Amino acid sequence: MTKENKKSFEWERKSGWLLISDNERKEIFNFAEEYKDFLSKNKTEREFVLYATDQLEKEGFHDILKMNRLSAGDKVFYTYKNKALIAARVGSSPNFKIIASHIDSPRLDLKPFPLTEDYDLALFKSHYYGGITKYQWVNRPLALHGVLIKKDGKVINVSIGDSLEDPVFVISDLLPHLASKQLEKKMSEVIRGETLQILMGNIPLKDDEKNPVKKNVLKLLHDRYDIDEQDLAIGELEFVPAAPPRDVGLDASMIGAYGQDDRICAYTSLKALVDSSSRKQTLLAVFVDKEEIGSTGNTSADSSFLIHFANLFSKLYGCNESGADLLFNAEAISADVTGAINPLFSDVSDPENSSYLGRGVTVEKFGGGGGKYMSNDSSSEYFNKIRSILNNASVLWQTGELGKIDEGGGGTIAYILARFGMEIIDMGPPVLSMHSPYEISSKLDLYHTYKGYKAFYDENN
Ligand code: MN
Ligand code: MN
Repeated sequence: MTKENKKSFEWERKSGWLLISDNERKEIFNFAEEYKDFLSKNKTEREFVLYATDQLEKEGFHDILKMNRLSAGDKVFYTYKNKALIAARVGSSPNFKIIASHIDSPRLDLKPFPLTEDYDLALFKSHYYGGITKYQWVNRPLALHGVLIKKDGKVINVSIGDSLEDPVFVISDLLPHLASKQLEKKMSEVIRGETLQILMGNIPLKDDEKNPVKKNVLKLLHDRYDIDEQDLAIGELEFVPAAPPRDVGLDASMIGAYGQDDRICAYTSLKALVDSSSRKQTLLAVFVDKEEIGSTGNTSADSSFLIHFANLFSKLYGCNESGADLLFNAEAISADVTGAINPLFSDVSDPENSSYLGRGVTVEKFGGGGGKYMSNDSSSEYFNKIRSILNNASVLWQTGELGKIDEGGGGTIAYILARFGMEIIDMGPPVLSMHSPYEISSKLDLYHTYKGYKAFYDENN
């Protein structure tokens, strides 16, 4: 066999940066600037829903609950409990094409009774949300985002720590001088859930003997938001990393930022939907909450809000198919990130079957743990369809799985949406340091994720 022949049968895999033009490189870098700006302003599920509905309204999308009927060309959105969202472009056919991502990220929520005082310091006790490596969250600036609800029902949006004039919050770790016992411990025991207490203040309220520092923090909260300690128990406040997104590397090829799992997919799928030129099928971008705690609760992928939307759509469109039929016949992408192979910890990955930063969007046939447990194992027929869409649109893509077989594993919402009977496959960019306060993505993968989602929407156009 000649060298040429041999080459043609092998799937040659290499860095996407070697395969793009100078013009595309510019497009990639420009695209990343807008994405970083988006990330810096949208750190919670509620913030994403506000951002997205604002964008959608600017693009001529209307609240579906205000529509009497739907027909081809209509653009609508449906928000659910301020934490989940479906955006739709109505096609000449009611058949759904769905891209679904999640908009919650691991973080530190508050305990119901968070505020304490110890040794002249006021602290907020947290209860972490999602899978975090706890020691990564100490000694770094945190911001406080979320909502407080006053007794009259008024909602106060809280955001402290992201503007340079704002104070930040921090969990103070032990100094190395006194850490000899700490350093003997197992890493999982160095920082425990109960250790994740955030510094809130040090100035005592004058003429008050019991817990004067705590009382001063309560006074400041009252001055600022007109709330009391009971309102704290009702609220939804989240500590998230305060640092803004930055370019990473001397070549600035990567992006370091909090919450890229999974807002990198939420951002690119929303943009792909808005930019899509498809007029045939009905395109849905679905954004769900609570993926990071197992998709439980009424704003998660496992709630009935999707079928509720589908039924509403069916009624307004006046089609013969029920909402369940539409979901059953749908074609979907589960838009979520995967772990990229990390040269510092490559022993947990199979290099041949891992995703590489800079090689494009990853399509994973299956995920799950050892033995494909709890995985959505997509059909080969559907994978082939996705492959041809990506190849026809010159999307740079790769495939792999998350880590070595018996090393662990992870899930997405793919298997939950698959319950409706729809075809679905996982597709999203690889990320380094997933679930950490500073996740790393590749600008090339970001852009080709957008291109891949848009190609999926634009197919059959
Ligand atoms: Mn995810
Ligand atoms: Mn995750």
